[in-house]
Amino acid sequence: MKVLYSMLVGLSLFTSIAIAQNNTLVSPCSSDEIMAWHLENNPKVLLEIEANEDFTKAFVKRLVMERAKNNVQQSTAQYTIPVVLHVFHFGDDGKIDSAQAHLGLDILNTDFNGLNDDWNTIDPEFDSIKSTLDIQFCLASHDPNGNATSGINYYEDSLAMLNIPDLFQYAWDNYKYLNIYLPKYTGGAPSLFTAYAYFPSTSGANSNTGGIFYSSIRWGYGSHSELSPGQDWASVGTHEAGHWLNLHHTFNNGCNGPGDYVNDTPPTLGGAIELSGCTNNDLSCSVSTNGENYMDYNHDCKKMFTQGQVDRMTAALNLPSRITLWSPTNLITTGCTSPPVSLAKLEINDQIDIYPNPTTGILTIDGVEGTTEVYNIYGERIATTVSTTIDLSQAARGHLLCKGAG
Ligand SMILES: [Zn+2]
Repeated sequence: MKVLYSMLVGLSLFTSIAIAQNNTLVSPCSSDEIMAWHLENNPKVLLEIEANEDFTKAFVKRLVMERAKNNVQQSTAQYTIPVVLHVFHFGDDGKIDSAQAHLGLDILNTDFNGLNDDWNTIDPEFDSIKSTLDIQFCLASHDPNGNATSGINYYEDSLAMLNIPDLFQYAWDNYKYLNIYLPKYTGGAPSLFTAYAYFPSTSGANSNTGGIFYSSIRWGYGSHSELSPGQDWASVGTHEAGHWLNLHHTFNNGCNGPGDYVNDTPPTLGGAIELSGCTNNDLSCSVSTNGENYMDYNHDCKKMFTQGQVDRMTAALNLPSRITLWSPTNLITTGCTSPPVSLAKLEINDQIDIYPNPTTGILTIDGVEGTTEVYNIYGERIATTVSTTIDLSQAARGHLLCKGAG
């Protein structure tokens, strides 16, 4: 049943693609079509969307109140999301190399954290509401079986390269990894859209049918990318991750409420895929359009999320289908953080106190004077200090041996 469900999504897409095959326009995203298909074919999806919306409203309200109470501009929460990239190719065709795969992910991390080059060139009208989400998309270094992995899986398959068969068959546990599928084309060749993403969904996570599908020729920059280095189109990946974190297009519902369900993004008609520049479709709803927003379709002008969008994504990270991904346990399981270091053996006879043990960061040692050395299980010295605290956040996993040296 799960397989059939996924295949139907694919067939639905190909129907729409066939209609526009002679058109040279390339749409950035078809997540709306995916959502419409889900709503039409699975009544339970609507119930979950409504429940998610209720949760999101309450969560965002609480976030805003906490900021006001603490008199701070932004939340200090940090998130890490383990990612697996599935690359589909035929020979060298569509086989992006590791560097390009990493670059595509770097763009997400750069954009979400406001480190993009054009962050300081945002229209003054929207500069005051721009915001960042402190999030890192981390290539997994442990696969579902606990084995070492680069986080990039390659599959040689001429049809999968066109996103024709059910690519969900290659999914890794959606509760542990964000699966990003990178066929050369997202549907047929050439694809008339770049990507699509699945909104947060428990049923999707249960059946491992979530994630992001993205045309590899527009993922990052490199010999297998058709994009020029620095071209904003690559930030369509950021747009898709926005959908994955429950953001709608800024032009959702056009000029009508509830728009995109975010309070500070002005309504706009938007949506035309040929838009370029930063101000196209301006005033289409009698107010300025935030054309620089990642969730607009101005594909060569992608610069910012608003505070309201960041709040909505923060709420999404706390939904059942997303909250397990960034849990400390899962980050250890997937290799996106070092596990706590524990002191297996102590070779000092003095009365001492060591805490916290285990630790992922600062270790405090009381009761020892002079130099302290820390060794790993291989006998390699990894820290020497005369201080009572040692930063072990960069230490390799496993047990350590702490030794007073003088
Ligand atoms: Zn979209």
